This record gives sequence, C-alpha cells and structure tokens, in this order.
Amino acid sequence: MKAERKIYTVEEICKGFTYNEAEGKGLFGLSGKLTIQPEYQRNYLYAEQNGAREIAVIESVLKGYPIGLLYFNKVDDEHLEVLDGQQRITSLGRFLTRKFAVTINCVEHYFDFMPEDLQKKILQTELLVYECEGTESEIKEWFKTINIVGLPLEEQEILNAIYCGPFVTLAKEVFSNSQNANVNKWAAFLKGNVKRQAYLHAALDWVSRGKVSEYMSLHRFDTNIKEMQTYFDSVIDWASGVFTDIEKEMCGLPWGELYEKYHKQPYNPSDVATKQRALYEDYYVKNKKGIYEYILGGCKEPKLLEVRCFDTPVKEAVYARQTASAKAAGVSNCPLCAIGLDNNRTRIWKLNEMDADHVTAWSKGGATDISNCQMLCQTHNRAKGNK
Ligand SMILES: [Zn+2]
Repeated sequence: MKAERKIYTVEEICKGFTYNEAEGKGLFGLSGKLTIQPEYQRNYLYAEQNGAREIAVIESVLKGYPIGLLYFNKVDDEHLEVLDGQQRITSLGRFLTRKFAVTINCVEHYFDFMPEDLQKKILQTELLVYECEGTESEIKEWFKTINIVGLPLEEQEILNAIYCGPFVTLAKEVFSNSQNANVNKWAAFLKGNVKRQAYLHAALDWVSRGKVSEYMSLHRFDTNIKEMQTYFDSVIDWASGVFTDIEKEMCGLPWGELYEKYHKQPYNPSDVATKQRALYEDYYVKNKKGIYEYILGGCKEPKLLEVRCFDTPVKEAVYARQTASAKAAGVSNCPLCAIGLDNNRTRIWKLNEMDADHVTAWSKGGATDISNCQMLCQTHNRAKGNK
C-alpha cells in the first residue's frame, strides 16, 4: 500500500461541493475530482442531533484545533474518493454552502455573513490528507487500523466499501433504506440501525450462514440479490408465523440459525403463544431471550432460560437444618453421600462446598422455594444437573 502525504486547504477541498438533499450525501469536492461519499458509503450522519457534530467541526476549525487526518483512495490519475473523513468534509462543505449556521458570541452566523477574517480563517485552514493506493485486502487492513475520528465505521460499512459494486448497491436499496415499508416489520426481529447497515448485515449473515465476506466477494458483481432476499423473507416469515406475540427480547436473536435448525418442524402458533406467555410470567425465568429456542426445541432445555437459583438465606437455612440432623445421625450432610459406600459417607461438608438443588426439577413444576431445596455436595449436584 502506497500512501502519499498531501496538504489541501478547506477552500480547495470544498471547491465544487454539492450536497444531495434527497440522499443525504455530500457528493463532490476538489472541483469534481474528489468523490466524497461514494455509493458504498453510509449517509451523512453529522446533521443528526440538531447538527451538534457538524457544528463542532466548524468550531474546531475556528479555534484552530486539528480535525484529524483524512484518507483518500486513488481511483485513477484523475479521481480520488474519500476513504475516511467524509463526515468532516461534508460538514465543511455544508457550512460553506449555507446549510447550517454556527453561534459566535451569541450571534448565529451563516458563512456568508461572518466577519471576513473568520471566513478567511476557515477557507485557509490546511487539512492533512493521505492519498492511498492499494489492493482490496490492503484497503481492508487500512480501514481497520486507522483510528477514525468521531464515528467508527461498522464492520458492515467497511465490507460495503471493500466489496462495492452492483450487488452492494442493490442490497442497500432494500436493506439499508429506512424508507422501505418493511423496515418496521423487520425491526421486531433485527437489532441495530438500518442506516448503519445492521439489517443488511443480518440478511448477509443469514444467507451466508455467517460467512459474510466470502458471500460478498462471490456475489460482488451480481446484478440481482434474489437469493439473499428470498432467504431473508423465508426467515422472517417463518419467525413471525411461529411467534405471533411480539416481545422486545425477540429482537436480535440469531433467527437465521434458528430457522435452519427448526423450520422443518411443525408448530402451532396458538400453543406457542400460550407457552410463551406462561414463561414470560414465570418469575424463575431469568433469561427471557432463551424462551424462543426453549419453545422451538420442545421445552427440553431449561438451561436456556437460566432458571433463578435459591437465595442465600434459603441455602443457609437448609444447610443448617440438614447438617444438624446429619450430625445427630452420624452421617454426611449431603444426603447422596450419606447413602453411598465410600469415605464421604460420614463427611460433613462446609456450606461453601455444597450447592443448592431443586428436589423436583423446575422443568417438572418444582418451585424455587425452601420446601423444594436440598443442599448437595458439589460432586453430587453436578452429577444430578447433568442428567
Ligand atoms: Zn455428596
């Protein structure tokens, strides 16, 4: 990877700056030579939160603070595109083209109406740029290594940059588009920000069974996204068909994996809903996210639910009771050791050498209260837990 160090003024970088309102993107700079937000790049985000970030960029420049390094990628002898720094450059361009104002000494100023010395200060501010040339894998490494000021890129944003092409463009139209009417439906199952490529990432992750880079590389020049879209729809349709009650814990579960594992089994949605409700109401179910796979798997693996343990006072009370009667009888205070044949038959374990056990298992209706608690030595408790 070659990287050439260059200095540009703000005026040079922002020359010919155009901002696309519809797409929310800064497009060009350096008199058209520089593509600021190429197709694969995320949208402009610094205008969010009432523009706090873009205002901060201008304030930094006015105070003479550095706004960090910029990285450009050399496309060919004539063209550059921004690898890192698009949000900052777009902030500068938008300010120079009167898209927002900054407050100086309690007065709001648009660029044109600023005192001339301040205008000059901004235009003549020098920005340090590295112009890079390299292969795909070098650029990938580069993206991962550079310390990005402000908003770090999401993994999927980096992958979109590396595998840019017709496939990514089409995929983004569907999966990174907050105007897409399906986004609300998908939001019940997917976590993260659609604009930051979280939904596209899920779609790729599912169809590729976790091998996102390989899939993107293989399909980079495809002119359709049918396979991914069909698979994605199958997963969502299946999940929303089985689980008709939407709960927030459904969001972000590995639905692709669950689909692969369980979609061939029949489920009755109203039975599923009844079980789901009962588990949500069960105080002992600690991990609500585990409810879904627990039900899909036929309610056989309570460890998915992280059933609540006995409280310390309960354990202490049961320990004291068991130990007193064991001592009186001259046997171990672990009831399973006491009926054994080895040396532990008469051993009195300390409290911290024992664990609480459900006499009747939780999954068989046993409660987590003192009447259903016994203390076992750790060896016996583990042996019982593994059954
Ligand atoms: Zn024991």
